[in-house]
Amino acid sequence: MTQMFNKNEKLTLYDPLTDLPNRSLLNERLTHELNLARRYQRAGIILFLDLDHFKEINESLGHLVGDQILIETAQRLQSLLRESDTAVRLENDEFVIISSAQDGIYFDSTDQSHAIAEKIIKVILEPYFIGEHELHISASIGITLYTGIDESVDLLLKKADSAMYKAKEAGRNTYRFYQQSIQESVDDKLDIASNLRKAISNNELSIQYQPQHSDKNTIIGVEALLRWDNPNLGQLSPTHFISVAEESYLIIELEQWALETVCKQINLWDKQNIIIPLIAINISPKQFHLPDFASNFSHTVLEHQINPSRLMLEITEITFLDNIEEAIDKMHALKQKGFKFSLDDFGTGYSSLTYLKRLSFDQLKLEQSLIKKFIDQPTDVAFVKAIISMAKGLGLDLIAEGVETGEHLAFLSDFECNGYQGNYFSKPLSNKQLSKYIKAANKKHLY
Ligand code: C2E
Ligand code: MG
Ligand code: MG
Repeated sequence: MTQMFNKNEKLTLYDPLTDLPNRSLLNERLTHELNLARRYQRAGIILFLDLDHFKEINESLGHLVGDQILIETAQRLQSLLRESDTAVRLENDEFVIISSAQDGIYFDSTDQSHAIAEKIIKVILEPYFIGEHELHISASIGITLYTGIDESVDLLLKKADSAMYKAKEAGRNTYRFYQQSIQESVDDKLDIASNLRKAISNNELSIQYQPQHSDKNTIIGVEALLRWDNPNLGQLSPTHFISVAEESYLIIELEQWALETVCKQINLWDKQNIIIPLIAINISPKQFHLPDFASNFSHTVLEHQINPSRLMLEITEITFLDNIEEAIDKMHALKQKGFKFSLDDFGTGYSSLTYLKRLSFDQLKLEQSLIKKFIDQPTDVAFVKAIISMAKGLGLDLIAEGVETGEHLAFLSDFECNGYQGNYFSKPLSNKQLSKYIKAANKKHLY
């Protein structure tokens, strides 16, 4: 936040050493933030930062060096913050960062604070070059969230301060939440993340394949789904670990592994004359946004000598919400090579027709929650019917996901849906089970 002040105001509201707002301005801003949070039902974040072992450095190298560290810390903090955030120097080596949440969801703020704290820890760990010294410093951070309800500025700062002490007790160079429940969920995530990091080398990952059937009951393809069998955590569905993998960027490694595994499996099946026409693979937004995603993806597939037209890349709307041009370019590059694209989980979220017009999808997947509830809801029936006829009108193939019963199937086929995936046909299968499934289908001349 930048504001114009006269000289006197500047002296009373800003710290002369670092030029950051001081405690008085913090009080003013935080009071204002709490009012906004209350009025618009927002949740914001307070981070209380204290440099580790600053006192020792200050005493051994002198105050001039100490001052330079504080000035540079202030600059580093400011370089990370958004326009609407405020970094404050409280006193000595204590800083406070207020970050107002963009929207009103409490748990979004938890994720956001997690991300800000990680960034701060990282930026402080960069070496400080002061005079002839190269100094390595770390920070401990306490975090609390605010919603403006029954909270005073003093109380919030005390909470953040006490969380900072927990970070010190935990060995410094880390962050802790004041709220125990949030801390526990963060710990769970970290536990998952650290286990997941070893999952590839420990051979704990596998791929299952769920068959997709046409309206004539032939097998038109399979969707590759990631599975993780961990000795401590048990078997985990991607719904438990994909979000953690995305937050920690482990997803990129996981998906590269998944793509290579799927490519090797396609070649093995081909050799056994088990020909699967289309293999769908899920692409996370993080992977899609990598600058060299298109070239890396096609490089891997071509390296395994697989015809790209056999691969269906499933992406969800969130992937292109904030940058449709990027999606147009990347999809175009991959489609030129022959790859196909499916819009996954359509019918929830934005489901905007604009995207369908501008992005050249081959297939639309009807979100499974729609199928489950639509049978007794007339408006949902109309909605599903409209999506099916729209997909047809646009020349898109359609797959209804989560088809669990004969009733679901009968309903969908009345609307002339032409593709189905779900437990009614088969649960996701291991590669061996899928081979058997296809052989059995061949025998019944279904395939
Ligand atoms: P999705 O892409 O929408 O995949 C379909 C999910 O629905 C799968 O869950 C599948 O097991 C489940 N499913 C299929 N038929 C039925 C049914 O009849 N009833 C019910 N209740 N569920 C059914 P799964 O395997 O747990 O995967 C969840 C999500 O995780 C996937 O949703 C996908 O978004 C993501 N995912 C899976 N593998 C990968 C991967 O390799 N990369 C990425 N980025 N995401 C993946
Ligand atoms: Mg999918
Ligand atoms: Mg889906």
